[in-house]
Amino acid sequence: MSLCHPEKGNVSCGACCGLFNLKLTTKEYTNLLLERTNEFKKTVDFSIRHSFPIYRKDRETKEGSIPKKDEMTYNCPFLGYVDETKHRIGCMIHPIFTGDPKSQNFSFYGTSICQAYDCKTKEGALADLWEDLFVEIAKDSIEFSFLSADHIFTYAVEKFFAHSLLNTETMFHLNRLELMELFRIRLETSASKNFTSFEINYDIFLTLESVERYLSSELGSEWNQWKLEWEKKNPNRGEVSGSFDK
Ligand code: SF4
Ligand code: SF4
Repeated sequence: MSLCHPEKGNVSCGACCGLFNLKLTTKEYTNLLLERTNEFKKTVDFSIRHSFPIYRKDRETKEGSIPKKDEMTYNCPFLGYVDETKHRIGCMIHPIFTGDPKSQNFSFYGTSICQAYDCKTKEGALADLWEDLFVEIAKDSIEFSFLSADHIFTYAVEKFFAHSLLNTETMFHLNRLELMELFRIRLETSASKNFTSFEINYDIFLTLESVERYLSSELGSEWNQWKLEWEKKNPNRGEVSGSFDK
């Protein structure tokens, strides 16, 4: 199991399959995934190969009228619910379901890309700790996907703690409630973003000031509010800017 499909909880991620490129509300994402899953179960027969492209074409036509955030980003209709209770999202044509190692070749990206891709947070050194935290915060797989795919924000938070000379033990344990609050604030605006996890981070946050500039631009006044509370718990932490790099 991994950040994509955590062992714990009842959530999973599907952000890199392009879901959030569609301009929908959180509720509408859930409805769309349910609609895809029901249609997939009714129309796709793993032993009939042409049922895969027929499903894909049909969904692409139906979803063609949904406005996109970026016309160049593809949203794969094979992303749906993959468990009986319809809580976990994932690839409905993954080889573990179809028994065919190449079944993802029916998709736009193809097997080699689908199986080789790992996002920045998943391949990062703190992946397991982020996974645990995001499972705890997310109320469903949509929220979990928002959190998991948001690698620039996550990296900025890591750097904020590193520049404040606080180690990962402090960050994920002693400051856990504050960390959870920060990501809950982030979730309030996540739906308006097009998180694919492919976003390029142009800022490596060499100083505390650069991290704070980024967090302030992303969270607005809520960042100042959060920082005020955080400083009460961690006095004088702003004085070590730039002296430590992870
Ligand atoms: S965005 Fe990352 S965590 Fe989410 S499904 Fe893709 S690789 Fe996995
Ligand atoms: S076929 Fe690839 S892009 Fe489509 S849902 Fe599966 S893993 Fe994602």
